[in-house]
Amino acid sequence: MERTRSRVFPATSVPDEYLALSDEEARRRILAVKRELGRDLVILGHHYQRPEIVALSDYRGDSFGLSKLAANAEARYIVFCGVHFMAESASILCREDQVVVHPNLEAGCPLADSAPADLVEPAWEVLNRVLGEGRLMPVTYMNSYAELKAFVGRNGGAVCTSSNAHRAFQWALEQRERLFFFPDQYLGRNALKRLGRSGLRAVVWNSELFDGGLSREEIESADVFLWDGYCHVHRWFLPEHVDRVRELDPQAIVIVHPECREEVVAKADHAGSTEFMARFVASAPDGAHIAIGTEINMVRRLAMEFPTKRIYPLARSMCPNMFKITLQSLAWTLENLGQVNVVRVEEPVRSQARLALDRMLQLEG
Ligand code: SF4
Repeated sequence: MERTRSRVFPATSVPDEYLALSDEEARRRILAVKRELGRDLVILGHHYQRPEIVALSDYRGDSFGLSKLAANAEARYIVFCGVHFMAESASILCREDQVVVHPNLEAGCPLADSAPADLVEPAWEVLNRVLGEGRLMPVTYMNSYAELKAFVGRNGGAVCTSSNAHRAFQWALEQRERLFFFPDQYLGRNALKRLGRSGLRAVVWNSELFDGGLSREEIESADVFLWDGYCHVHRWFLPEHVDRVRELDPQAIVIVHPECREEVVAKADHAGSTEFMARFVASAPDGAHIAIGTEINMVRRLAMEFPTKRIYPLARSMCPNMFKITLQSLAWTLENLGQVNVVRVEEPVRSQARLALDRMLQLEG
């Protein structure tokens, strides 16, 4: 069943005069602002953005990599071409005097939407009532909103990425008896597997059922609680897709994102973050065949960038939210910098979320 909960952002329709711009004209105007502002402006482009947006970005990367770039940027204006929670993370990490802007505030993320803090808090209370205070450690994936990161921060927990989730789990279970992970149940399962602690008992907290759909006995006997969210883009990939590739292209190497189902990750040759995938493709020898289970825009771009390798999608899966940023919305945002689509995480959410992000950075060493 697809989720219906969805975070509501302020309406920010691109004005008609910008919608009417041809791609060429919008590109010309974007480049003019870039030239005029020089080092005062940095445009960050997530790997899943449209190719024309990535081409105009100063840096490309995954959400955490780009947020770290934002934190170290000199620029006064940081334009984050990704989905909304990414711009929030940049706002949490950057300096007070920097302005973070997102070219289309309607580009949300259903995975982040699935775990709003006001739904997580009652679940946390139920588990603490049954298990006793101080036994449970919260960990949230980077793909969550600032309020949830703040909740995790003030309850002693940490943020994690798809690359370091297993390390964050290890840390959490060293600090406290049990772990509550939000919002991606598949990343949770894959991280537990990578951690190699097969004795841990994990249960899914069904956020649409009373008490998570768990009995008192099930709660008491669980070590790990996984929020029931998922990324529909990565859940789309099935074990049959891997089987088909193996059948049609036996020399193909299959790489997938750890937000994919556990059975898909088990059948793939490698699983890793978008940064991992980009590096894997870049370092593969000419002639390599690589089938990739992640968002289609990234796969297509890698295929174009490395024409001497055979790069293709495991199946076609697109993130419609990432697709919402267009040349026209970017031109509008840049010509009205600081006036429209500013993303600013206010106190105390900012400091509390920062705590959870800093704990992750400490884990990174
Ligand atoms: S790819 Fe998945 S996790 Fe990433 S923004 Fe789209 S829906 Fe959210």
